[in-house]
Amino acid sequence: MTAANTRLQEIHEIASKCDRCGSCLLVCPVYSVNSKEACGARGMVNAARALTKGDIAPEEAILESVDYCLLCGACIDVCASKVDVPQVMLKVRQQLVHLSEKPYAYSEAEKAQFEQAFADLCAHNAGLEKPELPHERKVSYFFGCQSRLGPIEPVVNTLRVLHTVADVELVNNECCGLPALTRGRIDEFVEAIKQNIQLYEAAETIVSDCACCTDTLKKAATYLADDPEWCKQAQAFSQKVVSLSEYLAKAGYQPPAQAEKITYHDPCHLGRMQGVKKAPRDLLAATGNYVELPAADACCGGPCFFPADYPDTAAALLAKKQANIEKSGAAVVVTECYHCLAQLQKAAANSGKFRAAHISEVL
Ligand code: SF4
Ligand code: SF4
Repeated sequence: MTAANTRLQEIHEIASKCDRCGSCLLVCPVYSVNSKEACGARGMVNAARALTKGDIAPEEAILESVDYCLLCGACIDVCASKVDVPQVMLKVRQQLVHLSEKPYAYSEAEKAQFEQAFADLCAHNAGLEKPELPHERKVSYFFGCQSRLGPIEPVVNTLRVLHTVADVELVNNECCGLPALTRGRIDEFVEAIKQNIQLYEAAETIVSDCACCTDTLKKAATYLADDPEWCKQAQAFSQKVVSLSEYLAKAGYQPPAQAEKITYHDPCHLGRMQGVKKAPRDLLAATGNYVELPAADACCGGPCFFPADYPDTAAALLAKKQANIEKSGAAVVVTECYHCLAQLQKAAANSGKFRAAHISEVL
């Protein structure tokens, strides 16, 4: 059986669990903005199932439908049949990748920016305070692409905090591969995983402060499970990955008191996809000035290419997020994802009533 046929069968198996109840439509963020059946979880899954049965042709309209999914996972939470909609969406994108002309790779200018960001980070890291004696724990930091494209301060804050609990090693890693995966470019994604596995072979623990990277790296092993040459290394690699807040909470890190009222936005890839909800809240509560955000886990519209591909929908989702942040009365909204952070910073600029920061800034 060819890889394409195997994938069609896998799509069919997952999509066939859908009984078309429509519960997901009540929570699907994109359906809440554009209430067309083809733009909601149920419609997307139905299109995928029709594709596998040969009822519809593999055409661009199908790709457009599955491309509109944020991969936020809100539908899985309410689905009685536990249909893994994001997985179906990703596999259909792989199946129809030949129809896609959307960019998925970084430009040469962006790659040069990544290298410069790593050099800048190394320079900042050299100036950070470190304990006289080495820690018992050692971590290797994962420096994601989105954080390399923005200001260096949030990342320096992450290192500042990490240095208080562990010895920190900097690795000039490759992109986690999520942009390629999101676009259905599975070969490029697997190549990125393999490169990172090799780069972090000697690492004890890999800490990431971006939810998208953390989730992708934790799941890397599932994509190499059938590869006899790589499966064991991939499993060992994924098991070493941990999010910043998980790591700090387990290490017993005590954040300093904060004068400003802080609220927290759950990145979909951290809260829903990894189940990491308590650790960031516990850390923030320890600052003495934490307030829960209404609908904290509602997607902000920021995943990967979504704001560039669908600016109007992303803006509509962000407007809801902004209203909730204002309702919370917080002076600062923090998060642990650089895609969410970029989106929240737009909300902060629109509002003028709060600012947005990476969680490391207030820890
Ligand atoms: S909630 Fe699940 S079973 Fe119901 S329509 Fe949505 S995907 Fe299908
Ligand atoms: S993953 Fe999110 S955007 Fe995609 S269908 Fe499910 S709820 Fe809708």
